[in-house]
Amino acid sequence: MKYVVGNWKSNQNLTESLVWLDGIAAIKPKFSSNTTTILCLPFTDIAPFNHKLSDINLPIITGAQNVSHLPPGKHTGEITANMLSELVSFCIVGHSERRRDFGETSKMVADKVQLLLENAITPIVCLDLPYLDEQIKELFSRDVDVSRCFFVYEPVSAIGTGSPIDPVSANHVANQIGFLIDNQAPILYGGSVSSDNVASFVDQSRIDGVLVGTDSLEPMLFAGIINSIA
Ligand code: PEP
Repeated sequence: MKYVVGNWKSNQNLTESLVWLDGIAAIKPKFSSNTTTILCLPFTDIAPFNHKLSDINLPIITGAQNVSHLPPGKHTGEITANMLSELVSFCIVGHSERRRDFGETSKMVADKVQLLLENAITPIVCLDLPYLDEQIKELFSRDVDVSRCFFVYEPVSAIGTGSPIDPVSANHVANQIGFLIDNQAPILYGGSVSSDNVASFVDQSRIDGVLVGTDSLEPMLFAGIINSIA
């Protein structure tokens, strides 16, 4: 199985998200049975997007991009894993933008992973070399079942730059992650993936799919990536 995961980040209001859905439905990408397509949306889009998705019957699974590291309680403004459990099957955690802009640590990311798993949501754990070992050790120190997670190698130098890293180097790090987690979970690559380069990543032996930021925002570009894999 190959995985394409879109990450809209803080883009697309509710109206725009539904227009996107009309756009992708009109393009009719070649959704194949050996590729799972997941789209991680802003919280505010998820429920209406899910409704429309089931109306038009497209094989896209929705995810969130973040979750609170705290359980339900007196935490004004936080969106908990319990709240998300009625809406999504996946949730990105530990994206480098959250580490950079919101001071997230490997311990906070591990808290989120635990809460997501308790709520039957698959965490998509983003990793880069400076904290890759630390993050995985933190998960193991809490007895997290890593076979219930996805992992993504996301070199910060490649995110949003239009310059992906060399697929062979990405595969090398994916192998390193695979070794640390006993090859129990899918490992994806993220960073400037497009329809032109996606095949060179998913053809690597240890890369099971891609996380796509910029090119998930335009239906035509996202469909191009799905079609290239198919
Ligand atoms: C990302 O931020 O997760 C990402 C992969 O972005 P982009 O595709 O724009 O590099």
